[in-house]
Amino acid sequence: MASTVVMKFGGTSVEDAQAIERVVAIVRQRLENKPVVVVSAMARVTDQLLEMARAAGEGDRKTALMLARQLRERHYNTAGELLGTALFTEFHGNLGTEFEQLEELLRGIAAVGELTPRTTDHVAAFGEILSSKLVSAALSAQQIDSTLVDSRTCLVSDDNFTRAAPLFPESNEKLCHTLLPLIDRGRVPVLGGFIAATRTGITTTIGRGGSDFSAAIIGAALGAEKIEIWTDVDGMMTTDPALCPEARRIKVISFDEAAELAYFGAKVLHPATVLPAIQKNIPVYILNSRNPSCAGTRIAARAPHCHNFFKAIAAKKRITIVDIAAPRMLLAHGFLRTIFEAFDRHRIPVDVVSTSEVSVSLTLDSNESIPALAADLAKLADVKYEGCKAIVCLVGENLREIPGIAGHVFGELSDVKIRMISQGASEINLTFVIDEGQVPQVVQRLHRAFFSQLDPETFA
Ligand code: ASP
Ligand code: MG
Repeated sequence: MASTVVMKFGGTSVEDAQAIERVVAIVRQRLENKPVVVVSAMARVTDQLLEMARAAGEGDRKTALMLARQLRERHYNTAGELLGTALFTEFHGNLGTEFEQLEELLRGIAAVGELTPRTTDHVAAFGEILSSKLVSAALSAQQIDSTLVDSRTCLVSDDNFTRAAPLFPESNEKLCHTLLPLIDRGRVPVLGGFIAATRTGITTTIGRGGSDFSAAIIGAALGAEKIEIWTDVDGMMTTDPALCPEARRIKVISFDEAAELAYFGAKVLHPATVLPAIQKNIPVYILNSRNPSCAGTRIAARAPHCHNFFKAIAAKKRITIVDIAAPRMLLAHGFLRTIFEAFDRHRIPVDVVSTSEVSVSLTLDSNESIPALAADLAKLADVKYEGCKAIVCLVGENLREIPGIAGHVFGELSDVKIRMISQGASEINLTFVIDEGQVPQVVQRLHRAFFSQLDPETFA
């Protein structure tokens, strides 16, 4: 076990020279805690790389190379601002080598006119390769002894390209072997998140947004004291401040609660990605690199008891309700399976489900490709669709223990038409479906009812 803190900086936290300067200042404040730094690609870079790869795959070499040139300029400009002339001259070639490789790769893809998942990962990896080089150079330029570590030398994954799964025992061993001696010597290792390599050294990526996952894997491997996820918000909030100005910061939340919230719209972080840390009881903090003195939100395996019924209210708009009635199949066994297989075939995830003897209602994201699914379902049952709905979800561990909470909630909303209700699956969320247009007033009313008085241990 090492006493170290893993600090992960997301895309917006490294988006330009100013942002990276802030990162340097934040890391400097943590030097006593022996930081390991993990970075995302600069904001929007992964999307741009994937776009280049796609263009090249379609044989459009010109567009691919044009986009690569823009990327090169952005990184050169940032490096120039960060490093000053002398250091930049030195560093220029270092970045240049990467861009030559990227361009060569794009030319190759364009020549073949085919983009495989394996090559996609190869292209996508450049974002984190470049940003980690930049951040490491920026730290060194400011007299912080940093060592760039290529994640592909110590994070081992399978070869399920674009969403490769880490191979934990091997990765853990390599991470400790590589990082611990550096930490012991007082150096700050800097790694790119998101990228890994197979046992035979082929570049992989571990899924979009995967840098949080990388940070958690690294923290868990090292037995870190804590993991800090630096982003551009103050932490998780009781609700979306855009919907309800009275929203407050949640100081501490359990992993299960955070997971529910992420599923229903809180975009701060996908908690599943920090599971490796939570399983080892390593707390994860969400912090704001633009407001580093804010204490953020701590996600822990268990949260202290809270006097409020709920921790947060989330709303997810653009929902379609699908009502599937199948009188002929009354009680027929296998009916639900047949229905869900159709969703599975179209890879459409279902959020809320409720069933009766003769029908099943469920909700989908309206952005999914519903027409294709509808054609399939029409062969099986009578199906009705209703768009412009929203899911509202109240989350709190207290739902498990305190009886009658649902009564309080629906008592507050006695004049609102509730289309579906679900409670129980996770025991810590109460979910219902309403018309999209009612979201602001419903969220505001519930917030007033349940968050007017706040437990100071849990809320800021
Ligand atoms: N850069 C990668 C992405 O945009 C990984 C990350 O940011 O976490 O998906
Ligand atoms: Mg990103």
